[in-house]
Amino acid sequence: MRVIDLRSDTKTRPTPAMRKAMAEAEVGDDMLAEDPTVNKLEEMSAERTGKEAAVLLSSGTMGNLVASLTYCQRGTEMIVGDRSHIFRAEAAGASGLGGIAYRTVANDSRGMISPKAIENAINPNDQHYAPTKMIAIENTHNSCGGTVLTPADVKAIGDVAKAHKLPLHMDGARIFNAAVYLETPLSELVREADMVTFCLSKGLGCPIGSMLCGTREAIDQARRWRKALGGATRQAGVIAAAGVVALEQMVDRMADDHANARKLAFGLANIKGFVLDPGHFQTNLVFADTTFKNALEIARKLDDQGVKVNARGYDGKTWRFVTHADVNSADIDFTLKAISATVKAHAVF
Ligand SMILES: *Cc1c(COP(=O)(O)O)cnc(C)c1O
Repeated sequence: MRVIDLRSDTKTRPTPAMRKAMAEAEVGDDMLAEDPTVNKLEEMSAERTGKEAAVLLSSGTMGNLVASLTYCQRGTEMIVGDRSHIFRAEAAGASGLGGIAYRTVANDSRGMISPKAIENAINPNDQHYAPTKMIAIENTHNSCGGTVLTPADVKAIGDVAKAHKLPLHMDGARIFNAAVYLETPLSELVREADMVTFCLSKGLGCPIGSMLCGTREAIDQARRWRKALGGATRQAGVIAAAGVVALEQMVDRMADDHANARKLAFGLANIKGFVLDPGHFQTNLVFADTTFKNALEIARKLDDQGVKVNARGYDGKTWRFVTHADVNSADIDFTLKAISATVKAHAVF
């Protein structure tokens, strides 16, 4: 059966070129910096982001956690968006493992945080308050709909960070989607961020891995935290090889994912029972609220036809769709037809 998996861009499978590179990868003991393929991927990542150094980690969650541990200590606070992945979807690792408190400020509909709100959330130097140690932003913003912060947005927040001598961390799990959407070099987009993490395992199509990039000093400290978390690796060249292929071959094609997401969003807007503003979605994520009562049942019926969507919330009424390398334009046509027919036949309003 034809399967179109729109639940996440983590559903991508390694490409034939990745599998070949993985099989043939030169390897060594990465904990001693002796794996030439890991070293190459780290150098490429540092170069692409315009940072001094980079380190390979097993996930984006680990990237954000290691960044938090690098810049904050127990009993201190970090400022995060109230809809951020760090705050909502990483099992409260910074708090549970690092004793760091989350200070939330409002994300607007496109994931931006007002620089003024950030400034107001920085604690004064007074014994009543936890010292503020880090500001974190997310680009693209997952729960806001894959929306993009521009270099000017990032600079506005970066200026506040600099004025208060605070490090700015960017959760750039999908930062390449932002760079492709804006047609802007990645380095320009992350210039104001002291640290940035990006996922190899989402739109870039790798089976595993994230990179954390920053100053040499901060990345050295990050390596220590990676080790403490049990995340330091040995012959990880087999993983890094896929990352090298991803950076060389999988970035520019993301424009197709964005076009497919747009087509999907505008198609959904024409189907009874879907509420969304199709023009809101800039990259590869589309969210829609459904108005039929049996949303979970409809999602199950689509699943039976090979169309997999992410029906969220306790009632399954908010649907998330993510386009990626394993979904093409014809798959979107098929998906829209399947949804339209299934809703017509089975939706209860
Ligand atoms: C997926 C994601 C992460 C975490 O990445 P994992 O590799 O799944 O741990 C972090 N931030 C954002 C915005 C994400 O979408």
